[in-house]
Amino acid sequence: MSAALSTRSAAWRALGLPGTLVVLDFDGVLARIVHDREAARLSARTRRLLARVAARYPVAVLSGRSAADVAGRLDGVAVRWVVGSHGADWPGAGVRGPRRWRGRVAGWRRTLSGRLRGMPGVEVEDKGHSLSVHFRAARDGARAAAAIARAAADLPGAAAIPGKRVLNLLPEGAGDKGSALRRLAAASGAARVLFVGDDVTDELAFRARLPVPAVTVRVGPVPRSAARYHVRRRGDVDRLLASLAALRDPPRRARSAR
Ligand SMILES: [Mg+2]
Repeated sequence: MSAALSTRSAAWRALGLPGTLVVLDFDGVLARIVHDREAARLSARTRRLLARVAARYPVAVLSGRSAADVAGRLDGVAVRWVVGSHGADWPGAGVRGPRRWRGRVAGWRRTLSGRLRGMPGVEVEDKGHSLSVHFRAARDGARAAAAIARAAADLPGAAAIPGKRVLNLLPEGAGDKGSALRRLAAASGAARVLFVGDDVTDELAFRARLPVPAVTVRVGPVPRSAARYHVRRRGDVDRLLASLAALRDPPRRARSAR
């Protein structure tokens, strides 16, 4: 079981030292989970706090959405990296792999759309570099999950990563949030990493073996998370962002006695 995160702990305060990379998931971390995933967005408060953090730290947003989708939801906040599709959608990276993957993903979409046609509450989303089969709207979640798993079991070259009311299908070899976090740590040359996530897929990043120390935080305490720390709810992330920014605020000038 992870420990409740205190922003007064030494581990948290060390994040203010030079060399910290901040990696944040989007849905459920920066944005409140909403029924209609198209409606997910930053609140004005979170946007302001994220901008403050991004002015003080290198920040990466690592999401299951496509990179373009997430980038469009950051409301103009300039972060250093936006990585989508659990790490398969890496803008600026070589296109050889991704181009090959796009064709494969399109093939899965055609197959699954046929197999799952007429299933109420099930929706296949093609994110280019990966596929998500959503069943948030299915009345019997367990039954929908089982049917989707059966339909996806023989898709060529597909790695399945279950999430909250969703089955994600990624090209084998495209990695996952764990390998994406390792890659971000290497690319940034960071001395330490903060990662905040909220979902089953984020557990791969919580468990990632990184070459540098990491503060890992899961939003919403769950009994078997690999994250070292947790906060209770999405709103607590705003508190973390405010604290993170404050760690790098210039020291308040002591009032001059002269
Ligand atoms: Mg999430």
